[in-house]
Amino acid sequence: MSHFADVVLPVPLPGLFTYALPPALEPQAQAGCRVSVPFGNKRTAVGLIVRLHDVAPVGVEVKSILDVLDHSPVILPHQLQLWQWISDYYLCTIGEVFKAALPGKGPLSRPPSRGKIVTSAAEEKAPNLIHSTSPLEGELPSLSPAQSAALSQIYKEWKSHSVCLLHGVTSSGKTEMYIHLIAQAIAQGKQVLYLLPEIVLTSQLTDRLRAVFGDRLGVYHSKFSDRQRSEVWLRQLSDHPYDIIVGVRSSVFLPFQRLGFVIVDEEHEVNFKQQDPAPRYNARNVAIMMASRAGARTLLGTATPSFESYYNARMGKYGLVTLTERYGSVQLPEINVIDVRELRRKRLMREPFSPQLLEAMQAALDGGEQVILFQNRRGYAPQVQCHVCGWVPRCPHCDVPLTLHKRSGRMTCHYCGYTTEIPAQCPACETPDLRGHGFGTERIEDDIARLFPAARIARMDLDTTRTRTAYEQIIDDFAAHRTDILVGTQMVTKGLDFEHVSVVGILAADTMLHQPDFRAYERSFQMMSQVAGRAGRRQRQGRVFLQTMDAQLPLIAQVVANDYATAYHDQMLERREFGYPPFTRMIIVYVKHRSASTAEAIAREATIQLRRSFGTRVLGPDEPPVARVSSLYIRRIILKFETTIPLPQVRQVLLDMRSTLLAQRFYSAAHIFFDVDPL
Ligand code: ADP
Ligand code: ZN
Ligand code: ZN
Repeated sequence: MSHFADVVLPVPLPGLFTYALPPALEPQAQAGCRVSVPFGNKRTAVGLIVRLHDVAPVGVEVKSILDVLDHSPVILPHQLQLWQWISDYYLCTIGEVFKAALPGKGPLSRPPSRGKIVTSAAEEKAPNLIHSTSPLEGELPSLSPAQSAALSQIYKEWKSHSVCLLHGVTSSGKTEMYIHLIAQAIAQGKQVLYLLPEIVLTSQLTDRLRAVFGDRLGVYHSKFSDRQRSEVWLRQLSDHPYDIIVGVRSSVFLPFQRLGFVIVDEEHEVNFKQQDPAPRYNARNVAIMMASRAGARTLLGTATPSFESYYNARMGKYGLVTLTERYGSVQLPEINVIDVRELRRKRLMREPFSPQLLEAMQAALDGGEQVILFQNRRGYAPQVQCHVCGWVPRCPHCDVPLTLHKRSGRMTCHYCGYTTEIPAQCPACETPDLRGHGFGTERIEDDIARLFPAARIARMDLDTTRTRTAYEQIIDDFAAHRTDILVGTQMVTKGLDFEHVSVVGILAADTMLHQPDFRAYERSFQMMSQVAGRAGRRQRQGRVFLQTMDAQLPLIAQVVANDYATAYHDQMLERREFGYPPFTRMIIVYVKHRSASTAEAIAREATIQLRRSFGTRVLGPDEPPVARVSSLYIRRIILKFETTIPLPQVRQVLLDMRSTLLAQRFYSAAHIFFDVDPL
């Protein structure tokens, strides 16, 4: 007879919370059911029962569960184990994982005994299409000899490695190979998780997969409503779960009953890592862990492997399969390096555009082809400045200048969202004419419209893709050639597949390289190679125009030659010398406080404490590049330690440090958190 329940609550406090179970609720209560419980001052919270028992807690007042919200468990036992692993590894509470894992509102379990069980609209419409014994509703593409060879090699690698890295150049047909692997897995009665880094990629991909797998495919991402996500969740718990789930990072939290195969597409993407709030997990790594626990195989696919994954493959931890040719013998794009500094000196640049790029764009448009332009800043201009006195409007809450958004007539902070009208005159010197500096995608779009009045232009960035229909529309229009030029941020660099793109322009290639981050080189290489890879995918070789202020950079030559190996080896030498991942493990400790001096004091004390255990492995404290966000001052301490040091030991020191500091009265309002394997 159980009388108590240990409950996980969605709060940043460690451990489980014990509640008494009133007799009336006992029949319904099971581990894995959600409950409503009193928590804190007259508040209630929704928690999840982890276990039932009859051991009364000693010395504390035990409150009672108010209600059991589910008729049956809404998670599977192995999910709870994964949550525990995430909380241990990423130094957060299991409550924070719980909060991230479950979709918000909406029922996650079915009411008992109501005759016919209906789990979703799709199932109701087509009840007999779903069962996993039904044949496929489309045909598998026939693979090229190179693709077939790579496919057999993947199976071979999986005999000795649970993870295989597929390094295939852009447009080598990785997606077509995934389709074969998926078909094979579901033929064996297994489920498949297909992870993508970005929502914008899902619509193109699901069209391709639906054509083959029909209703066996479920889609899961954050632009779906809570209700839609709950429906997918419920379906995965049912007797007729989707065989294949395509989704972004949160889909690693879905219940899989017989997971057999995980694809992490574009595995190098930073979007797999959640920044804020906790859990600050990397969905690629969680997926690998989840798959290995389920005895499933994982395929990491990309044209530009993350240096960490490539290192793992070279060290023999992962299998490695390489595809060096594009499908249909299309050549990789020809990359033209444009020396912007030289052109500026000769006064040949037309604002951000080189004459070579403009000429190529004109030729493409004349020939009925399409163009993609990549600029990694959204908005009209990254900053506004008075050209008389130099005054720059800045965010009152963050240490950054405001970005000009001309369409909305406003200036916005890209860190906290603060927005204000553009002042009619400079508040410092009363000059009426404030000017935008630099080029964001909005301004590129305007300039292009002036230069190519007949062209149909679309822009894809955070501002134009706030809703699901909006980004789908942009992609559909471009795919159907209803637009000619697509201007966008890093969103256009991702694995999109368009037929008629013959010209790609990278407007400011080296901006990424100058970021203060040991991964800047790797990122720049990936970004440029990926965006270049959008050109000339079907018939003819495409052309890329890479505009740079420093044409002599070794990186540029490596991108031009598509020389991944050299970029990797050069960086590995540096990382080994300076002790960066993958040769070390990195954890960043963040301290945030409303007062700059308190943040500083805490960070100093934390550093002293950590040095006692870790010595010179502790670097800092310092200020991050943006040292104040949403009125909180930020300090950070960087820990770099040998990969051989056991993580539990490190974890304990960090947690102890945090609890001693937060126990001090003057520090109690601080936020101290950890970013494990930061990206
Ligand atoms: P990647 O994911 O490697 O960039 P894709 O899978 O998108 O490449 O393939 C690029 C293009 O080539 C797509 O339009 C795809 O339909 C086509 N393609 C690739 N392999 C095949 C194949 N075996 N049969 C037919 N078309 C293919
Ligand atoms: Zn002024
Ligand atoms: Zn701000």
